[in-house]
Amino acid sequence: MKEHIKCLIIGSGPAGYTAAIYAARANMNPVLYTGEQPGGQLTTTTEVENYPGYPEGITGPDMMEDFRKQAERFGTEVRYELINKVDFSGPIHKVWTDAGKEIHADTVIISTGASAKWLGLPREAQMAREGKGVSACAVCDGFFYRGKEVVVIGGGDTAAEEATYLSKLVKKVHLLVRRDEMRASKIMQERVFRASNLEVHWNTEATEILGEEFVEGVRIKNSETGEEKTLPAQGFFVAIGHKPNTDVFKGWLDMDEAGYIKTIPGTTRTNIEGVFASGDAQDNVYRQAVTAAGTGCMAALDAERYLAAKEVEEMADAN
Ligand code: NDP
Repeated sequence: MKEHIKCLIIGSGPAGYTAAIYAARANMNPVLYTGEQPGGQLTTTTEVENYPGYPEGITGPDMMEDFRKQAERFGTEVRYELINKVDFSGPIHKVWTDAGKEIHADTVIISTGASAKWLGLPREAQMAREGKGVSACAVCDGFFYRGKEVVVIGGGDTAAEEATYLSKLVKKVHLLVRRDEMRASKIMQERVFRASNLEVHWNTEATEILGEEFVEGVRIKNSETGEEKTLPAQGFFVAIGHKPNTDVFKGWLDMDEAGYIKTIPGTTRTNIEGVFASGDAQDNVYRQAVTAAGTGCMAALDAERYLAAKEVEEMADAN
């Protein structure tokens, strides 16, 4: 059972759906596979207030519903399935769904996103999903904690950036670093140390999130002294890194050490002709819905131009 598709889009976040809107309007008959989290990371956030065009804000799940409807309105076929194997060795790109179906695609747009890493504490992921004070994105959610006290976990650039960003909004930031030094760049560390309302707790890990309805405090433990105590906090920000959802493409596409797909600068082209990457799967710097949507648009335009150039070549060969 094989199927031929002109434009296959993998992933259903802002990048995937934006690629679908543009590809559908260019008569590329896109088929979009949602992956295991239809709507992507935004479905795990509550209010989105920084996406242009929504002056009153919108919830993440509602926004992604709007993206889907807009993509379907122009003829995108949305399939609630996973792609779990690819073969990019030939001019026709082969992919397989988890149900074992083989698809041959002229162009593939990868928009599989990235997933925030969590500590794995009890109720952590659930409280994040339900918007109860746990978050992995200070830029998205920091605004809701104005005047409050928050805990940030991590010692890398993301944690340093999120902690300093939050320090400008909240009353106090507690940054928990599990070792006696931070991995973050020196300049980012200096910003952390300069913020007067930001306290770094070295050799410290969070052991429990307190609070029934909403985060009320965080139990912490010093790994050197064994001392345990409770920090009062209404927000719990985990900033221990993201993992791009690109494992299935390993061995085919050029990636950096962390697994982010490398694209040719200024384009969404990968090292394989006809395969394009957009959104967080290829971006570890900006990671915003609006930037993901922007690169989704670029991927559809790149795919359209690739197909047009191929048609011209084929016509020339035929003559
Ligand atoms: P990193 O992998 O660089 O850092 C992760 C941090 O989280 C480390 O300090 C690590 O501790 C800590 N950590 C990991 N697991 C746990 C755990 N279970 N409990 C407590 N702490 C934990 O990820 P980042 O997201 O910070 O950065 C990823 C990449 O993106 C880097 O290359 C970074 O430079 C880049 N980046 C650049 C920015 C910029 O230039 N503006 C902004 C953000 C990111 P440990 O050190 O002990 O391993």
